[in-house]
Amino acid sequence: MQKNKTLKYIVTGGAGFIGSALVRLLIQLKHQVINIDKLTYAGNLESLECISKDDSYTFEKADICNQEEMDRIFHHHQPDKVIHLAAESHVDRSIKNPDIFIKTNVLGTHSILESATSYYNSLKLSEPQKASCFLFHHVSTDEVYGDLGETRGLFTENTPYAPSSPYSASKAASDHLVRAWNRTYNLPVVITNCSNNYGPYQYPEKLIPLIIISAISGNVLPIYGDGMQIRDWLYVEDHAKALVQVATNGQNGETYNIGGNNEYTNRDVVHIICKILDEKLPNHPEGITEYKELIQYVDDRLGHDQRYAIDSSKIQNELGWESKETFESGIEKTINWYLNNLDWVKIIQNKAKKES
Ligand code: NAD
Repeated sequence: MQKNKTLKYIVTGGAGFIGSALVRLLIQLKHQVINIDKLTYAGNLESLECISKDDSYTFEKADICNQEEMDRIFHHHQPDKVIHLAAESHVDRSIKNPDIFIKTNVLGTHSILESATSYYNSLKLSEPQKASCFLFHHVSTDEVYGDLGETRGLFTENTPYAPSSPYSASKAASDHLVRAWNRTYNLPVVITNCSNNYGPYQYPEKLIPLIIISAISGNVLPIYGDGMQIRDWLYVEDHAKALVQVATNGQNGETYNIGGNNEYTNRDVVHIICKILDEKLPNHPEGITEYKELIQYVDDRLGHDQRYAIDSSKIQNELGWESKETFESGIEKTINWYLNNLDWVKIIQNKAKKES
């Protein structure tokens, strides 16, 4: 990736899955990073151990809903750019307990927009040149567009919003707030809507790490409904590169869809992982000769969308980004990472046990 001049980024949610990939990349690109994270169950500083001692990295443990704290952090650190990822992100949790999703994803985004606007307005007076490059980049999901069902269509940046779950509805609401702050208060913003990510350091409640870890432990591999739901999979490091590209060169007020062009049914994803594990770990857990024997179909998720798929031609044509990993190469890397980082998995599992 091309090296730009050193900038100071505020990243929210930098201890999460995508946020930590982004923080590691920004530090590698010699930028300064202030990571704001509340460290919920999904936030892990262990994911940032490799850069935590870097002089360019600062951690601020804070809740994005805390307006005073956000004001203090913005005015103290004086960022050039903000990339906002902090959110509650797991659909199943949003079905069981929507409240925290509304609080963090909607009200939290509101707080941080207020702080960013107040900071940006003061910057316009004190440092107009720095203000002219300032950008608030909101990271969102393709799930705001709803369900493509049986159609062969793709989500474009103009697809109307039709979220299905409390998670996607809260993300849609936050996208609307960001656009409103752009139009009403002239805060420079960009929004990216991305497809399903996978890769290293993903919390093991999400499909791919759940299947890898359950399989090697000889546990059941649960698949919702008939497993025929289709998702477009993007390797997390490709997403992080896209985020840097958009934060650097994205146009004020624009939206960019980001996808991997890798559509697979959930059933296929699970079978692919089982097959790779059969080759890598031929000493199967007791009682099975192939990992796929652990698969169990379970009741479908409420309101489960059938298909998401992304048209990412805008970011490709306008900003020159494209994903590097195919699903075959990315899933291989991901499985290798989990097999080589079972200590990280243990830390997360022990933390989850303590919290339950
Ligand atoms: P994640 O759940 O792994 O991480 C979220 C991070 O936000 C955690 O570190 C958590 O501690 C932090 N956080 C939560 N509430 C907070 C609060 N109130 N204040 C400060 N920090 C808080 O999520 P992820 O998968 O890395 O997703 C990051 C962003 O990308 C989210 O906004 C999500 O909607 C979006 N997104 C995710 C995917 C995906 O496939 N994972 C796809 C598209 C978009």
